[in-house]
Amino acid sequence: MTQFKVMKFGGTSVGKPERMRQVSQLITADDEPTIVVLSALSGTTNSLVEIGNAISSGEREKARELIDKLEAHYQSFIKELVKGEKTYAKAKAIVAEHFEFLTIILRISFSEALSKDILAQGELLSTKLFSVFLEEHKIDHHLLPALEFMSIDSHDEPQINSIKTKLAHLLQQHKDKKLFITQGYICRNARGEVDNLKRGGSDYSASLIAAAINASVCEIWTDIDGMHNNDPRVVKKTVAIEQLSFEEAAELAYFGAKILHPASIWPAQFYKVPVKLLNTMQPDAKGTLITEEAGSQGVKAIAAKDGIIAINIKSSRMLLAYGFLRKIFEVFEKYRTPIDMITTSEVAVSLTIENTADLKAIVRELEPFGAIEVEENLTIVSIVGNELTQTPDVLSKLFAALVKVPIRMVSYGGSKHNVSLLIPSAHKTETLQLLNKGLFGLE
Ligand code: ADP
Ligand code: ASP
Ligand code: MG
Repeated sequence: MTQFKVMKFGGTSVGKPERMRQVSQLITADDEPTIVVLSALSGTTNSLVEIGNAISSGEREKARELIDKLEAHYQSFIKELVKGEKTYAKAKAIVAEHFEFLTIILRISFSEALSKDILAQGELLSTKLFSVFLEEHKIDHHLLPALEFMSIDSHDEPQINSIKTKLAHLLQQHKDKKLFITQGYICRNARGEVDNLKRGGSDYSASLIAAAINASVCEIWTDIDGMHNNDPRVVKKTVAIEQLSFEEAAELAYFGAKILHPASIWPAQFYKVPVKLLNTMQPDAKGTLITEEAGSQGVKAIAAKDGIIAINIKSSRMLLAYGFLRKIFEVFEKYRTPIDMITTSEVAVSLTIENTADLKAIVRELEPFGAIEVEENLTIVSIVGNELTQTPDVLSKLFAALVKVPIRMVSYGGSKHNVSLLIPSAHKTETLQLLNKGLFGLE
């Protein structure tokens, strides 16, 4: 079977006509068979979320205005993107088709499925317009509709075996092609409806595709030169990390490093496909290589995840009682709510969740087990690295740096790659800055 590489370009990387031009150069830089995964143009998915919200709350006038504004953006985008008469007419027809669809939706009664259809327009538009651009520049390629192969089951989990079979079949049908373009983020769900892999999901699409076709590499092209040692949106001085293991990268992604979708590492890890994080705006920068090798020992990076809720269950009955934790976990399992952190004492257990959809019901079901306290507006700060438990000084440096921060929970030892702290969100900026200095000597 032909070996492909996967190249995924995020919103900023396709957000301007000149960036699409740059992308076309990057994807044709060598002759390796390539599958290109594109996000929506930057800002589009946010606008589509707003449009969906306006429609669902009955603000049709507002939705109309948002749709018109977005359409105007695409009209000027294509004027700059394609110059030929025929290709411009094609691009115009694509924009018209998708905005007509949004206009029709305005008249239909709102549903969850409809909101997913709205969200899918961004990736459909970006890939189709990019395809027209490639056509204008006589770059031979084929547009692969993600909705024909990317799917999730009734638990929202990707169906990797089905993705594998369908994708192999589609590629087989176009054996003469070496360059394929497809949509990130969008998929079909168990009911066959249009759905998506959650915000930032194009990274996940890329990794799933790379796993499904056993790609030589999964390149994630974005607007920064790789995974940095700390959140560059919060801390001024951060540096790119050259090498990470899959485990380290997965922990960072899960615990808030926005550069990667939280679930995007496992498919590549499971199928042993190396992942590279690269900068579209600075293609010669080294970026970050993610493989089974960590490269070095010790702390590599810090990430933070907001919107965390702590639940404390205090019960004297817990004393020496086996089966107590099982009963508690069953409640979370019932509501399909993942637990991020957990600490126990003789008479109490504290755990954290991110998904608040069923918080009330969870608390109600926990009440028979003891006194329940819920604390909101918390942040998990994760310190990630290789063999942390065997690296001297990690904990002493960590706590020395954070003497003034009210730490609510600590999780250490569950994984060799992670120490996690739970803090009030109001202290996040300060914590990340203090750790930058204390652990990396960067100010
Ligand atoms: P894309 O649209 O290409 O998917 P994202 O905005 O999703 O890009 O991800 C890239 C952004 O992630 C960066 O611009 C940066 O602000 C943010 N980010 C957060 N944490 C990190 C980190 N540790 N290293 C690099 N980037 C990070
Ligand atoms: N366009 C989607 C989003 O903005 C998916 C992605 O960009 O990864 O969330
Ligand atoms: Mg992203």
